[in-house]
Amino acid sequence: MTVLAITEHRRGELRDVSLELVSAGRELADELGGDLALAVIGGDVDAFADELNRDGVDTIYTVDEGEEFNHGVYTQAIEQLHDELDPTALLMPNSVNGLDYAPAVAQSLDIPLVTDVIGLEGDETVEVTREQYGGKVETTYDIDADQYALTVRPAEWPTAEADGDAAIEAFDADIDEDALGTTVNGFEEVGGGDVDISEADVLVSVGRGIEEEENLPLVEELADALDATLSSSRPIVDNGWLPANRQVGQSGKVVTPDVYIAIGISGAVQHVAGMKGSDTIVAINTDPNAPIYDIADYGIVDDLFEVVPELIEEFGGE
Ligand code: FAD
Repeated sequence: MTVLAITEHRRGELRDVSLELVSAGRELADELGGDLALAVIGGDVDAFADELNRDGVDTIYTVDEGEEFNHGVYTQAIEQLHDELDPTALLMPNSVNGLDYAPAVAQSLDIPLVTDVIGLEGDETVEVTREQYGGKVETTYDIDADQYALTVRPAEWPTAEADGDAAIEAFDADIDEDALGTTVNGFEEVGGGDVDISEADVLVSVGRGIEEEENLPLVEELADALDATLSSSRPIVDNGWLPANRQVGQSGKVVTPDVYIAIGISGAVQHVAGMKGSDTIVAINTDPNAPIYDIADYGIVDDLFEVVPELIEEFGGE
């Protein structure tokens, strides 16, 4: 039995989710009593393969096709790898890219797909866990199929340890250029596009309590003083005050920083779904009954316009 995990890279760098897929894939391979194979498609595949050579990986297949993600290349290459390796489980990241190609691959291979998986157990059949209703309940599903596909939620598994001794093999995919449909011509960054809040260690997150766009520099200054990254709840993005890639939550990003400082954020379920895995949660909110305090490790029940300047002073502001 083989578990095949498709890794991910962007702009020349392997994404953390790739190393988390190694952990998830190894866990599943152990449960099934099988091997773990990885595939890396496009970019500097040899360098990526070296980086992916972690404890528990049996084989790494390199597919030297293109530089960046391309839907057509990925779907064709994965389908061919699947035909060749005949894996029991196909693991992909539950990322923007993963959710772009995973349904197409599953449909084409005629195998069931379960998305956004946060837990795996199995022997003869595999049992997978997902969240529902904005993280209020967890549900488990038995997958009663010989072969299946899963997308794995980022930041749910630890990154795999280094020092593997996997075999690295070039896989010669036969890509039909005429069937690609899209071509990647280049990249143009939109504002804030360089920031990936899901990879930050400390997040200063701002909500509707900030009242006006003109007040945002206050929390930006705190983020600078703490060497943190700025994120937000959805209303801030809906108002156009910060770009969409800063939004934490069900329809934003899932984050698991060491420290999450929620400033003027009430703690709606859709927000909490994206940040409840943070190691330490600090809340600043005038309302002592705000739901954010149900999950906060530390709380300051006070006016953010009083508290934040004091924190800036304490942590290195002017
Ligand atoms: P509010 O709920 O208005 O809270 C503002 C808080 O600031 C209050 O608790 C208030 O006490 C406090 N406050 C006010 N003034 C001060 C002050 N001076 N000092 C300190 N505290 C103060 N939301 C997300 O964040 N992310 C998502 O991904 C997301 N996805 C959604 C998906 C769906 C399908 C739906 C229906 C909703 C989604 N939402 C999401 C919206 C969510 O339901 C909430 O509306 C939103 O999270 C509220 O944002 P908030 O906490 O900033 O604002």
